[in-house]
Amino acid sequence: MKALVKKKAERGLWLEDVPVPEIGINDVLIKIRKTSICGTDVHIYNWDEWARKTIPVPLTIGHEFVGEVAEIGANVHDFEIGDLVSGEGHVVCGRCRNCLAGRRHLCAKTRGVGVNRNGAYAEYLSIPVTNAWHCDPSIPEEILSCFDPFGNATHTALSFDMLGEDVLITGAGPIGCMAAAIAKHAGARYVVATDVNPVRLELAKKMGADRVVNVAGESLEAVMKDLDFKEGFDIGLEMSGNPSAFRQMLSSMCHGGKIALLGILPENVGIDWDTVVFNGLTIKGIYGREMYETWYKMTSMLQSGLDISAVITDRYHYTEYEKGFERMLSGNSGKVVLDWSE
Ligand code: NAD
Ligand code: ZN
Repeated sequence: MKALVKKKAERGLWLEDVPVPEIGINDVLIKIRKTSICGTDVHIYNWDEWARKTIPVPLTIGHEFVGEVAEIGANVHDFEIGDLVSGEGHVVCGRCRNCLAGRRHLCAKTRGVGVNRNGAYAEYLSIPVTNAWHCDPSIPEEILSCFDPFGNATHTALSFDMLGEDVLITGAGPIGCMAAAIAKHAGARYVVATDVNPVRLELAKKMGADRVVNVAGESLEAVMKDLDFKEGFDIGLEMSGNPSAFRQMLSSMCHGGKIALLGILPENVGIDWDTVVFNGLTIKGIYGREMYETWYKMTSMLQSGLDISAVITDRYHYTEYEKGFERMLSGNSGKVVLDWSE
């Protein structure tokens, strides 16, 4: 089968012929229909420091996908050949305290599809059946291919009660833009998104942000004044991984404000801890998606009118993957979807 493989320990990605993966008794084999490109895949493509210390070579990469079940292991009973599925990219141990308690997103032994084991940028993918998610076929396949990052946005945005709250989103990348749509859907009063990229801010506006602020030249404080905030934001969703964005968020929260931190900050970022302590802030780290409450919420939000379709800005056939990565590298795309049909 064809697969996009990190073949050599250097920049790039290679379209290769590799064997179809074998399945165990508890696995499903999925015929991939569409995949979307994640920032993680761009790190692997670039072969940056994180990738060099994390990715075994050779490896088929990719973890955002939708496809149909092509084969099932002998122990698999609730999936049938032909079922439309997406899947959780975090493979957990199933036996630790958190896993046994149903907190699988907190498993300390998590392994990543397309990161620590072969991934979804291929004609076929094998994953444990406990990682497969039945899709509602009325949802467009390209949206289903983004359930992994949509799940990051959902897990983060729904960490705190949104109803009637004023929400700051720092970072209007694909995940920040989806979070803006979710926050509005969940009843937030004002959603303000910041970025330094006008293309991304335009997308955030299109996806429901009430106000967008280019912090490279505009004042967030002025926007807060204009919206007649008595104090600061009730909820902060950090989705940039940028230290100055995080610091700006900390100083823009109301007393008792709640922050969900998804963005991956560089090592040893210093913040003003006095703000956290004296203003009584809550900071919650977010990793991945809740299994499978986040997946349930994503499906039901789409079924009840949430529209995230604008986040998909580019579509290519998998043989044109270089164009897709170019768009991601430009920093001006939303989600880039690759089509795996022949
Ligand atoms: P992205 O890189 O596409 O978007 C980040 C955005 O932040 C960019 O548009 C960038 O211009 C903007 N930005 C840069 N400086 C800024 C500043 N000072 N103020 C405001 N915005 C600024 O990333 P994405 O794919 O949307 O993901 C968002 C973040 O979440 C990334 O940091 C990513 O690594 C992280 N992430 C975490 C998890 C997890 O499980 N914790 C999962 C996926 C992604
Ligand atoms: Zn576990």
